[in-house]
Amino acid sequence: MDTPSQKLLARMQELRDLGGAIGLCTWDQETYMPEGASEGRAAILGTLESLSHERLVAPEVGDWLEASLQDARLTPDQRRMSELLKEDRDRAVKLPSSLVREIAVEQSAAISAWRQARAEKDFQLFAPKLQRLLELRRAQADAWGHGGERYDALLERFERGMRVQRLTPVLEALKAQLVPLVRALAGREPLQGRPELLGGSRTYADGAQWQLTLDVLAAMGFDFRAGRQDRSIHPFTGGSHPQDVRLTTRLEASTPVPSFFGALHEGGHGLFEQGFAEGDFRTPLAASPSMGLHESQSLLWENQVGRGQAFWRHWFPRFQAAFPEALAGVSEASFHAEVNRVQPSFIRVEADEVTYNLHVVLRYELELLLLRDALPLSELPGAWDARMQQYLGITPPDPVKGVLQDIHWAWGEFGYFPTYTLGNLYAASLYAAAQRALPTLEQDIASGNLLGLRDYLRKNIHAPGYRLPAEERVRAVTGEGLTDRDFVAYLRGKYGALYGVSL
Ligand SMILES: [Zn+2]
Repeated sequence: MDTPSQKLLARMQELRDLGGAIGLCTWDQETYMPEGASEGRAAILGTLESLSHERLVAPEVGDWLEASLQDARLTPDQRRMSELLKEDRDRAVKLPSSLVREIAVEQSAAISAWRQARAEKDFQLFAPKLQRLLELRRAQADAWGHGGERYDALLERFERGMRVQRLTPVLEALKAQLVPLVRALAGREPLQGRPELLGGSRTYADGAQWQLTLDVLAAMGFDFRAGRQDRSIHPFTGGSHPQDVRLTTRLEASTPVPSFFGALHEGGHGLFEQGFAEGDFRTPLAASPSMGLHESQSLLWENQVGRGQAFWRHWFPRFQAAFPEALAGVSEASFHAEVNRVQPSFIRVEADEVTYNLHVVLRYELELLLLRDALPLSELPGAWDARMQQYLGITPPDPVKGVLQDIHWAWGEFGYFPTYTLGNLYAASLYAAAQRALPTLEQDIASGNLLGLRDYLRKNIHAPGYRLPAEERVRAVTGEGLTDRDFVAYLRGKYGALYGVSL
């Protein structure tokens, strides 16, 4: 007879396998699936998801969890796995299936309304659907339970353990430092800038772009026997298992930036997924403790490493060899300056490192007000534009470049945006810790050796998986939890030098 803990482990593995099948179907949907297959694929995904839900909320799982958690012989890892499964299960059990269904239906309706509103540049076409999604999310937060702040219950899905009370002062302090930094840099030229360099009439061949993305992924230590890269419109990292990690990137003929930095970004996610300890595969321990910590790994590679000076010492000659015409006569310093140009802009996903987090803070503040029912939707576009003016000094010309730009709210996803900024803050702190631990890190990067950093991250972040909550994991590595100090110091040092100003 299997013990409750053995039965639980088997169920955890089954749930991870179902998740893997969902991951593979979703990846395929975004890459190779024929257009006509979308209805059939939606049915397959629906079946897999409800099967997974049933296997999680089944009454016997509750019995096994209760028995298992009372067992004094459990190892710390077994206990942790049971606790993690219990938290997932408790949240799933608390949601009435009628609410789950209604959210799914309203999401599809809201997505169509959002597309329509974008086509006609009219927020009011989307507002009634957004109102309905907000009501449903408030109901969902109430079903999960919270201590008076509904946003906490939604945040918990992406950033377990994080609370508005903890997050708000950190983002407020960050904003107070970023706004003057943006003002000091806006309208200035980087010392070595050549504005015509990226986005001019140059063309960058697909084949050469693709090869560079593969080269940099290999240099990072991404294992191509346990993963692959394909093309998609919106880059993402998916897959079915730590030994089957699927990255995607997007190629643009007029600029090599999205494909290369996209590969660094998704490669950072991919290394996390490939880096879990083998003994944890198919268990709840083989997971990032939060979206913010996952994002810290992609941003660390994309920005701290990939937009750094040392990195281009090695990679610029390779870029020049790959694009001899486009980059003839261009210096390494100019290229580095241009991939770091600071310019307040309307669209979050196109923003530079200095302005990016102000886009996130703006969304976070508005989401909080919306969830608290403290901002009528009729006032949302105005509140958006006023904050853009206040934080970045620009006003969107239309709602497509403003309040209608992200798909998140069309999905009714509230609580996700702050994970991007948590990722930026954690990335800076983890990179500073890596520099302290690896004294030759910058020289290694300059000579093209990225494996020392990969191994450091694997040991300290990837392999431990979900053993600790995100902030505790970061504290274990850096000596300090969530802080803006390392990130702001990084920006001041780097952009002060690039722009020749003291910040
Ligand atoms: Zn990412």
